[in-house]
Amino acid sequence: MRPPFLVCPLQPDLLKQLQGYQIILRIPELEQVEQAVEQVNRASIRLECLYVTSRLALGLQPVSEKLKGIPLALRVPSMGLMRDVAIRLPLLRQLSIRVFMPMDSTENLTSIRILASLGIACTVLPGTKNIKWDLFSDLASYALLGLTPHGSIEPFHTLAREYQPAGRTELGGAWFTHPEKFIHVDSQGRFAFSQDELDREEFAGAGLQELHGIFETPAFQKHQEQWREQFLTFGGCATCPGWRICRGTFSVQAAENPECRKAFQEILDIVELKQAADVRGNHQVWQL
Ligand code: SF4
Repeated sequence: MRPPFLVCPLQPDLLKQLQGYQIILRIPELEQVEQAVEQVNRASIRLECLYVTSRLALGLQPVSEKLKGIPLALRVPSMGLMRDVAIRLPLLRQLSIRVFMPMDSTENLTSIRILASLGIACTVLPGTKNIKWDLFSDLASYALLGLTPHGSIEPFHTLAREYQPAGRTELGGAWFTHPEKFIHVDSQGRFAFSQDELDREEFAGAGLQELHGIFETPAFQKHQEQWREQFLTFGGCATCPGWRICRGTFSVQAAENPECRKAFQEILDIVELKQAADVRGNHQVWQL
């Protein structure tokens, strides 16, 4: 198994201990990018990307030429006004950027489609509110089967690349919660398998020295087996046709609104169509 990426905050004392690891550095706003890059260089660590968890809409982001060449995962609550985004668009298209946006509003799902159509790579984050499942599966169809060129939309491209009928597909890899790939670290070096677990203080380790051999620990094994709890009751996720790609990611929402089942069944069909098309290639009958 490859060593995991460490998702950690901008904390100079912590960074000094992270040499040899691949790092995703979490910062709250784009204004801190320069400071973050300076500290990364000073600590001589390998930066995979900066994960900016901003409270500002995309249209209010202070994008500038200085961001060129820096890999950015920019999480925003919404797109904001199209006119503000349009002003920033020429520069956004020159950046190494992926825009993350939660799927808990119709506007956001529409915004992601607009941004992708403008060539911006996007990631749909799980939402907490009422999700428009029909729009979500429409977006999957656009992402994987749309004929016009567009920016990639995650998690759909990851699904199309990694899904195997008999294998294990982790949807959360698209938003840094794949337990085999990402470990989340707090400023004191304690770590967990997701930011939510860190926030709830459900630590898998109390210090970086415990990272060695993390995949052999009972904490990791327990985390990997959590999915079994979905099968303790018959119904819900246990009988869902989309389980193989969702694995209960939206089980909280599903308890209130089981429409996710239909959406993930459709997305599974789309993923299989996409994989079949990729194997076949793009040859058209009239090209033979
Ligand atoms: S789509 Fe809904 S019901 Fe199906 S596995 Fe996911 S959360 Fe559970």
